[in-house]
Amino acid sequence: MHSNVNEKKIITILGATGSIGRSTIDVISKSPDLFNVHAVTANKNAAALAQVAKKVGAKKAVIADELKAGELEPALAGTGIIIEAGQDAISRVAGEKVDLVIAAIMGFAGLRPILAALEQGINIAIANKEPLVAAGEMITALAKEKGCTLIPVDSEHNAIFQVFEKHNIKQIDRLILTASGGPFLRWSKEEIQKATPEKAIEHPTWSMGAKISVDSATLMNKALEIIEAAHLFNMPAEKIDVVIHPQSIVHSIVSYKDGSMLSQMGASDMRTPIALALGWPHRLDNGGNVLDIATLTEGNGLTFEKPDTDKYPSLNYAYKCLELGQAACITLNAANEVAVARFLNHEIAFGDIMRCVTHSIDKLYPELVTSGVCDKNNLKTVEDIEKLDTIVRRATNNFIDSSCIPPA
Ligand code: NAD
Ligand code: MG
Repeated sequence: MHSNVNEKKIITILGATGSIGRSTIDVISKSPDLFNVHAVTANKNAAALAQVAKKVGAKKAVIADELKAGELEPALAGTGIIIEAGQDAISRVAGEKVDLVIAAIMGFAGLRPILAALEQGINIAIANKEPLVAAGEMITALAKEKGCTLIPVDSEHNAIFQVFEKHNIKQIDRLILTASGGPFLRWSKEEIQKATPEKAIEHPTWSMGAKISVDSATLMNKALEIIEAAHLFNMPAEKIDVVIHPQSIVHSIVSYKDGSMLSQMGASDMRTPIALALGWPHRLDNGGNVLDIATLTEGNGLTFEKPDTDKYPSLNYAYKCLELGQAACITLNAANEVAVARFLNHEIAFGDIMRCVTHSIDKLYPELVTSGVCDKNNLKTVEDIEKLDTIVRRATNNFIDSSCIPPA
């Protein structure tokens, strides 16, 4: 348990201005007696960071983009909130003593801050899945070494965490991740290729940041979640399944060999898994949406179906990458991050995202293996992982520049 005298849990929120960050702030604002905020961080948006820092009464506000520190100063003048700036500052502050770090940065950029917190033995409520995809072994091994708990915030993994019987691990038959299917579930393959960023971020059941919304539309989000689950629960790929569940009410299932299928259900509201992670091992009143189960009437109930892997090849790539190993997972994630960013920038078509991803694994990865870059011995340190990530980003940008036509 946390040890501070006033019994409040002291937390740091990485990515405080994002979708998960803001929902976290919403949950803690319902329980002002339970939490104190040490630091909040953001990438570039100084005004938004100043606003959340003031709202939660943080001691520190840290901005990744050093050029934006000048904007933070007037915005926080007279508040006593300490300003720090730079990517390194985020990692440094992530390692400052608190009871819990909320890892809600978007993308691979969240890796170093996560490692910095774990180095100091700090428990992490982890929403930021890309670092788990790229460096799951390193993160889970460090957490184990330092005696830290990784509490999953991603709703599927949070659901599994709630019904995962550690003492019955051998009796677990499979983990079944539920997927909403995203906004294009009923679109044809041809229609999907031409979808715009505006359509892709209009998620039917969840309200989320832009990158993860696009990932939901390609089902890359679920692909990343397969790899995330393999690391968080130490499960082999063949024990992880995906089922489409468009209502997003059953948040995932652990299926035991005795035939019991344990799941966690609730409204599609990230405040529930966030509250579980913030309060753990206790539960909080989060003030979020509560599901009225009696509304799930006949014809309006829960449905499940197999994913269409022809329309959405991403899931197959997750299994393939788990089999190939860490270098492939880093490649998959980096190619996807680049492709999604360029799609959101209107530089490539929606269909090009999967072209980049498949190219990265079918073409680029084998080349990197041949050239020795992906050798296991070259992936021992965080610098090694970052180096490969950078190589894949560069190659993916080149692939886009040489083979994708910007959409009209
Ligand atoms: P978002 O884009 O809304 O917010 C991202 C946050 O990270 C912002 O505060 C931004 O300033 C910060 N950030 C972005 N790039 C950064 C960088 N290079 N360095 C430092 N800070 C940076 O994203 P989100 O939807 O809140 O998602 C955050 C993470 O949580 C992602 O990994 C996502 O996959 C995961 N997640 C999100 C949801 C959701 O409902 N939004 C659900 C499950 C998992
Ligand atoms: Mg999820």
